[in-house]
Amino acid sequence: MGVRIADRVGMPELDVNRRLKSFEEVATGYTEEMAIAEASRCLQCPTKPCVSGCPVGIDIPTFIKDVKNRNYESASRTIFASNNLPRICGRVCPQEKQCEAVCVLSKMKDKEPVAIGRLERFVGDLQIEREMPGSLQTSKRRVAVVGGGPAGITVAADLATKGYRVTIYEAFHTMGGVLVYGIPAFRLPKDTVVDEAEGIASMGVEFVRSQVIGRTLPFQEIRDDYDAVFIGIGAGAPRLSGVPGSNLNNVFSASEFLTRVNLLNAWQFPEYDTPVVVKRNVAVIGAGNVTMDAARTAKRLGAENVTVVYRRSEQEMPARREEYLHAIEEGIDFKWLTLPTEYIGDINNNVSAMRCARMELGPPDESGRRRPEKVDGSEFDMEIEMVIEAIGQKANTVLRYGFPGLELNPWGFIKTVEETGLTNLEGVYAGGDIVTGAATVIEAMGAGKKAAESISKYLDSL
Ligand code: FAD
Ligand code: SF4
Ligand code: SF4
Repeated sequence: MGVRIADRVGMPELDVNRRLKSFEEVATGYTEEMAIAEASRCLQCPTKPCVSGCPVGIDIPTFIKDVKNRNYESASRTIFASNNLPRICGRVCPQEKQCEAVCVLSKMKDKEPVAIGRLERFVGDLQIEREMPGSLQTSKRRVAVVGGGPAGITVAADLATKGYRVTIYEAFHTMGGVLVYGIPAFRLPKDTVVDEAEGIASMGVEFVRSQVIGRTLPFQEIRDDYDAVFIGIGAGAPRLSGVPGSNLNNVFSASEFLTRVNLLNAWQFPEYDTPVVVKRNVAVIGAGNVTMDAARTAKRLGAENVTVVYRRSEQEMPARREEYLHAIEEGIDFKWLTLPTEYIGDINNNVSAMRCARMELGPPDESGRRRPEKVDGSEFDMEIEMVIEAIGQKANTVLRYGFPGLELNPWGFIKTVEETGLTNLEGVYAGGDIVTGAATVIEAMGAGKKAAESISKYLDSL
């Protein structure tokens, strides 16, 4: 049954009992009738405020009008003019904070914004064949892109469209970055990612897989071989709490747990011979999208009780509301204002309990959110057999030793000129999570677009 918010057309969803037994996609997508009904709500505002809310600047009213008129080829052309990954963005973009947040309907009494992301997904899922520009590979200039996540894919697609020869070097055996190894199939089906991410091969983009730049292939070699380089290696290293007991068995980072499930196909065990451990009582620490993904994954893999433990309150939770509501429907419990202070082990060094302190919120901290403070004498123990920490991501240390001369900030992220993505090295650009820290798919794509423009100008000036 779809969730119906005010007057907008609800998204059909898989029955919750079926969800818990599978990794099938939860949001099943609009039918044509639903898409046309939703598109008809758009006011076609001449000032197009929604476009400014989209980091890649899709001409939203134009494609929505085409959906309303069943002119899907034109809708698809409009979307692809700005966004190479509509099936992905339509599913995982935090639309409620971006394009939909500035839709004029959201300011009107009893109205909800047009469901822009759902309409974008509808058009993307029609998989209308794209006309490729006739100018592919007209330039002799060659660009290396390091990292096959959304930032790298966007740079590669935009530069290939402009006629440059582009090669993506990816550490894993498949393109897509976090879209493949982080976000689970019940939110973003794997074949959608592979189709869309690898679809840019049709633009002449070459892929070199299983090659870790700075480790299996020197960065300098890439710099010597190409006219320009873009680095989009993401923020793949997990931040860990380091509380006593962190090294006990069955204490995971969400990165490790989700990578085992998604990239190594533990979700398809025994079809794939790569199981992952999941216990009866699981605690997931944090409250972002990664937390919800880890908690819902653990539940699908057989955990009986999954509790999300967060040191702030529900109001400060950074996860998308839609995913939080799905988690509640799926039986995930939430313990707010609670901080783990120690993991306690049994005689076999398996985690068996978690000591926690209750928190209260003080004045706002540098993030603008109220700072959580421990309540004296409030400690208590929770019985658990598995912990998954989802408390943030940081830069991979490969940058420190594998990319000589590249200037980093004190947290290990790459320093760039904001407007262009240029690093301190000539012809070397960077963007996405490795510059901003963990952010969103569409922000990484926006950074990729900006960098592609700058790289093109730089190459033309050579
Ligand atoms: P990445 O996606 O991390 O891609 C970087 C790529 O570079 C990877 O494929 C990596 O293997 C490769 N690489 C790394 N080092 C090297 C090297 N030395 N040589 C070659 N290749 C290398 N965002 C949303 O908008 N909505 C969501 O719902 C959402 N949910 C998320 C859920 C999870 C579990 C996670 C972890 C993140 C989520 N995000 C979400 C965040 C979003 O996925 C990222 O912001 C986005 O993927 C960043 O894109 P990127 O291209 O910068 O990096
Ligand atoms: Fe909105 Fe994201 Fe689509 Fe842009 S890409 S229109 S922000 S859903
Ligand atoms: Fe349509 Fe909303 Fe954009 Fe206006 S702001 S054109 S109503 S999507």
